[in-house]
Amino acid sequence: MNPIYIDKNEILKCYKPIDKHTHKGIQGHALLIGGSYGKIGAACLSSKAALKTGCGLVTAFIPKCGYEILQISIPEVMVLTDVQEKFISNITFDIVPQAIGIGPGVGQEQATQITFHEFLKTTKVPLVIDADALNILSQNKSWLSLLKPKTIITPHPKELERLIGKWDSEAEKFEKTIAFSKKYQLIIVMKGAPTHIIDGDAVYENTTGNAALATAGSGDVLTGMITSLLAQSYEPINAAILGVYLHGLTADIALPETGYQSFIASDIIDNIGRAYLSIT
Ligand code: AMP
Ligand code: MG
Repeated sequence: MNPIYIDKNEILKCYKPIDKHTHKGIQGHALLIGGSYGKIGAACLSSKAALKTGCGLVTAFIPKCGYEILQISIPEVMVLTDVQEKFISNITFDIVPQAIGIGPGVGQEQATQITFHEFLKTTKVPLVIDADALNILSQNKSWLSLLKPKTIITPHPKELERLIGKWDSEAEKFEKTIAFSKKYQLIIVMKGAPTHIIDGDAVYENTTGNAALATAGSGDVLTGMITSLLAQSYEPINAAILGVYLHGLTADIALPETGYQSFIASDIIDNIGRAYLSIT
């Protein structure tokens, strides 16, 4: 396996500067679906990260109990609520997003699983699937065939294992992940240290990031960032590459100030601007 290293050179091939005549209506609308009672923070982090990564509009679809929390903590994000108080049970919306991220904090209630299945059958919008949405897929592997080509999935090692089964060596992990990517035509963001992105036979290795990222909510932020780039019309593979690179870069930039221990997921969001500035 010869990975393509995701470094500044690689990023400058796909990075699209902002057109000075742009407006929020053409800058992309991202929808983040997630959250459940006790995990509304995941929806807050992913939707705020999406905005800070540059899309024009962000809507969060969350259970009712998160309404005030989200509106107060991130006034720039629009909110749609499910009919249920504590979990998502019926994914319906009347907006037209260019990308949807689903999974952070969503839980695995039966009703959430059923509506996720219906959603996969009907949606035509480019998707990023993470966290419990991946765990639901692991328990219902026949639903994987519903995913459109170039859907992005972002498993951490445990989520990956649930999807593809155990591996005995690094080589086997890559073999199985590449086979899985080919079988379902998925872009797989294999999160880790470092993160790899698998798109069929193409393997990319990220060069940014450090152990400060091993913190609660880090992956939820990444989901928001990649969804935002997808909504801004980046090709799915480029959304994954740029999202992973910027996410890691925030931790490299913040490290001298926060150290490893006190860096939290909100620090990723707070440093997305600096990360962008350092590639332009
Ligand atoms: P999650 O487990 O879903 O919260 O995702 C964790 C995120 O942090 C992923 O993007 C990982 O690649 C990243 N991460 C976790 N630990 C490390 C580490 N030791 N070095 C670099 N990145 C890490
Ligand atoms: Mg996660």
